[in-house]
Amino acid sequence: MDRVIMIKYGELTTKKGNRKFFVNTLYSNINKKLRGLDVDIHKDISRMYIEFSLDQLDEVLKRINNIFGIHEYVVAHKIETDVENIKSNVLKIMKSLSFKTFKIETKRSDKRFPIPSLEFSRQLGGLILKNIDGIKVDVHNPDILLNVEIRENYTYIYTNHYRGLGGYPNGTLGRGMLMLSGGIDSPVAGYLTLKRGVKLDCIYFEAIPHTSIEARNKVISLTKKLAKYTDSINLHIVPFTTIQEAIYREVEDDYCITIMRRMMYRITEIVARKNNCMIITNGESIGQVASQTLTSMSVINSVTNMPVIRPVACLDKLEIIDISKKIDTYDISILPFEDCCTVFVPKHPVINPVLDLCVEYEKRFDYQKMIEDAVNNINTMVIDDSVDKTFEDIL
Ligand code: ATP
Ligand code: MG
Repeated sequence: MDRVIMIKYGELTTKKGNRKFFVNTLYSNINKKLRGLDVDIHKDISRMYIEFSLDQLDEVLKRINNIFGIHEYVVAHKIETDVENIKSNVLKIMKSLSFKTFKIETKRSDKRFPIPSLEFSRQLGGLILKNIDGIKVDVHNPDILLNVEIRENYTYIYTNHYRGLGGYPNGTLGRGMLMLSGGIDSPVAGYLTLKRGVKLDCIYFEAIPHTSIEARNKVISLTKKLAKYTDSINLHIVPFTTIQEAIYREVEDDYCITIMRRMMYRITEIVARKNNCMIITNGESIGQVASQTLTSMSVINSVTNMPVIRPVACLDKLEIIDISKKIDTYDISILPFEDCCTVFVPKHPVINPVLDLCVEYEKRFDYQKMIEDAVNNINTMVIDDSVDKTFEDIL
């Protein structure tokens, strides 16, 4: 009796015309993620099947659970479709389980099978009652629900249902540029963007020597965590020191953060376009800090026409923290290294900035030239999760 993971397409089935593309992308993503394991992956119109050797079950499940686009799956026994063969295997499986009540549900998608579903469930139930003592049928709330799916050639028998990560297969919705700081919010924003099928590039602004190599390493580690859900991620590290120093020399204190963020957005848009990204995504959350009031967002956002997606905009900090723990970024995010937003924080950042004033302040230095220089000196790293590199290896 072989074991097989059967993946149900779930939300993907609503994608009508695009369904084939979504399913094929999922298929290729699963192939990539299970590379190196002894598996056989195939698909039909409603299911994907992964056959594996039993000793690799844990590793296969671990990887499956990091793939977007899988909504529900079962781990089934796969046997040849034949009345007597199904009966003997069902009995064998039920004998190996401990339960007091049970129910059998048969689904006959191969109509050439001679016995209708309900009738076959009844026959299997009778067989089990006759051969196992002290049990009974409970159709409403059974200890064990045994599913028997009769398909062409093979029949699948299972008692479990697992929820997958959900979302859309990675790469089905184009590319986005994630503004990734070392904080808690932006990795969560990245995860949620990946969940919608968007492939990510990341951009990180650093202001060495005001920010440290440890701060950069944090961002590299966070990118690696996100790479678990995709194949690899390009991390673009932008030298931001000259711009940041100019801002703090030329601009009124209370507007420094606002102007700094306008510069980040400008650069992010340029790098996004260069890398075929159609959206910017970041970890801004309404009201969290002065630069995230609605007025601030509007004044900052006005430097770009590119759509800016803010997946955590409407979440409370505690909700964001919950997700960051789930995706294992929290412990990295709370490491105490300053990033370029935190080193120069003014005492009283403006809460309701005025656009005209921003434009005035920005005339005080040649930011366009500085942006050009910064973009020309970007350092891009390709980061994946395949090898567990240490910081030293990467740098
Ligand atoms: P986070 O916890 O994600 O760092 P935050 O609460 O610290 O967010 P801000 O520092 O105001 O908030 O930044 C808001 C968003 O701007 C971040 O979530 C991130 O997307 C982006 N951002 C901030 N600093 C940087 C940086 N140095 N490089 C790239 N993106 C940044
Ligand atoms: Mg931050």
